Amino acid sequence: MAQHFLLSAASRTLSLRSIYKAGEDAPYETFCQMRWPETDGEAVCPCCGFDEAYKITTRRKFKCKACHHQFSVTSGTIFASRKMDFVDLLAAICIIVNASKGVSMVQLSRDLDCQYKTAFVLAHKLREAMALEVHTGEVLNGHVEIDGAYFGGHIRPENAKANRKDRRLKEHQTGKRRVVIAMRERDGRTLPFVGQSEAEGVALANENVSRLATMSADEASHWDELHMGYHVDRVNHSEIYSDHGKHTNMVESYFSRLRRMVSGQHHHVSPQYLYQYANHAAWLEDNRRTDNGTLAQIVVSNSMASPVSRQWKGYWQRAA
Ligand SMILES: [Zn+2]
Repeated sequence: MAQHFLLSAASRTLSLRSIYKAGEDAPYETFCQMRWPETDGEAVCPCCGFDEAYKITTRRKFKCKACHHQFSVTSGTIFASRKMDFVDLLAAICIIVNASKGVSMVQLSRDLDCQYKTAFVLAHKLREAMALEVHTGEVLNGHVEIDGAYFGGHIRPENAKANRKDRRLKEHQTGKRRVVIAMRERDGRTLPFVGQSEAEGVALANENVSRLATMSADEASHWDELHMGYHVDRVNHSEIYSDHGKHTNMVESYFSRLRRMVSGQHHHVSPQYLYQYANHAAWLEDNRRTDNGTLAQIVVSNSMASPVSRQWKGYWQRAA
């Protein structure tokens, strides 16, 4: 039997040992290369676009020869105002891309010896960079499976039976339950959204799936509307999971990864940030057969191309 990709040496092209052995200069060069690929890593002024700058090597900064603006390799990117060393930043990226179901932030803060808050914000910034590859703006094509899965809003039952409430009733619910609606191309991209009810998926499909695509859905009645715009394969899960190629197993395996990420690593996710975890799991799912060196490179390159994060820059200062 052929060896599974994740067990092969080809899947391991980056290690923490090699990152720390290379020191601070090597990752700094990598970040420069990724930020300014068109000049082969030579600084380009973010202010006026001039491509000659003085190097202030002691502080790893640049000063534009034209407009005298001072900037660094991370200015104007998702890592703006970074305090962490480049070698630690690359190690954090390595740890995060190695974790196929995500990694808990307490664990990351221990690995890097940084505050929990630092790890939390860093990981969310990286998820934002990953989302560039998930939400590309292109419609899904070919054979697209759609389904929804509910997350959060758990109500802990009271200790004594006499005190327990009917948790199915609306007045006893927390209002924190959300649904992740995912569309997945067979052998292609995964596209998740967060909503209040699974029926919102019909409008999302109309927006994000090509009219030429074939769709697959389960027996839930709100998917009936999909038949107006698409050819739809339906499968009744109370009878069968896969009926001669009619199935939603690809999108179910995405939910399986997301469930394991939420219950196994994060334990609790806020409803307003569920979309970040959904995007992270989609990115991991779509890149499950990519070696970890390439994954780290993709994340660095997307981070250097992402603007300053409006949501995560200064998150704790605002929250305090
Ligand atoms: Zn300039």
